[in-house]
Amino acid sequence: RYKEKWATVAPRIPPTRLALHHFDMNYSLQLKDLWPSVRASLLCEQKYGALVNNFSPVDHVTQELELLNATDFVSEAPKKAQQSQRGTTTEEAGREESRSGEGRTVTQAETMTQAETMTQAETSPLLRASISPNIKCYTFPRGDITRFRPARPDTLGLLNYYLMDAASLLPVLALNVQPDEFVLDLCAAPGGKTLALLQTGVCGHLAANDVSISRTKRLYQILHSYVPKEIRKIVSVTSCDGRDWGQLEGGTFHKVLVDVPCTTDRHSVMEQENNIFHKRRTKERQMLPMLQLQLLMAGILATKPGGEVVYSTCSLSPLQNEYVIERAVEIAETQFNISIHVEDLSHFRTLFQDTFFFFSDCRLGELVLPHLTANFGPMYFCKLRRM
Ligand code: SAM
Repeated sequence: RYKEKWATVAPRIPPTRLALHHFDMNYSLQLKDLWPSVRASLLCEQKYGALVNNFSPVDHVTQELELLNATDFVSEAPKKAQQSQRGTTTEEAGREESRSGEGRTVTQAETMTQAETMTQAETSPLLRASISPNIKCYTFPRGDITRFRPARPDTLGLLNYYLMDAASLLPVLALNVQPDEFVLDLCAAPGGKTLALLQTGVCGHLAANDVSISRTKRLYQILHSYVPKEIRKIVSVTSCDGRDWGQLEGGTFHKVLVDVPCTTDRHSVMEQENNIFHKRRTKERQMLPMLQLQLLMAGILATKPGGEVVYSTCSLSPLQNEYVIERAVEIAETQFNISIHVEDLSHFRTLFQDTFFFFSDCRLGELVLPHLTANFGPMYFCKLRRM
């Protein structure tokens, strides 16, 4: 009786407070001096990107976005990287020239002509990194927190852009889909990344799966609002438990995206509803790394030899990020005799440094940290190649 009464008057700590407390304990150790600024950013309004719908007339919408001072960060990135690379190599050549000293003839080999510096820049691994030329996503410049207007329908009723955290596009860009490839999006709903995969315009077939029936309905809605009927034919939508996928259709896909359920850190500190830090969801939260590992293993098994998997979360937690990758690589090797190569994605950091704030100490993969002047993310992504 006494206990019952106590239970009714005990203060209920909101899940957002529990989440923040949990993050304070863990992320202050991981991110050290960066944590106070990341924390403040998580608690502020996030920034969006406008993913242009290539299935709707694009010229008008891109002009409109450019008039608002937004730029396509995807097409801008290689141009900026090229400029800065040229700047660096020309600068280096200049320094070399002045170091070669006055009063002495500078040989041809010692001086680098403009043409040579450009050739060097153009052949550097960074600039050769292929980024899907078809994906266009507009963002406002650093420090500009203007909001995008809601998308509008074209004459056929298709919406002209999709608003999403621009960092969510990075796992899709990392997947680098090539013409006619078979692609699996294992945890696809509500469908932002599925839509981005379709915007590449090159998928041969796209299997979009999500265990949740209600969220799969949202995926259908997005497909209907953005994608014409003839393109929707290449998409198959299923609602299976992704952990079973490897057994169903093993080794059939060229590219697999495993965008797993996670602690959704930004949501967890801002929204009470559907919060994974709710007391009654403690067990579910603690089991997340196991579920993530099982989903990643299913993704690896669904990939053809030579194919690639991108694993992603919107959490800062190494337990849900790097540790899951390490365990999966180990299990693939020991239990399935599959060797996995963890790809280097550090060129993403260089390419997109003007748009996102990247964590420089990530052991495997890349992590976008929320920042007050670039409030995207968190977004962790790591690319694996099945050998
Ligand atoms: N990729 C989506 C996007 O870009 O819109 C977001 C995916 S969300 C981070 C994770 C998804 O995993 C949720 O929609 C959830 O329903 C789904 N999920 C959870 N457990 C799953 C399982 N066992 N198999 C497949 N999907 C699962």
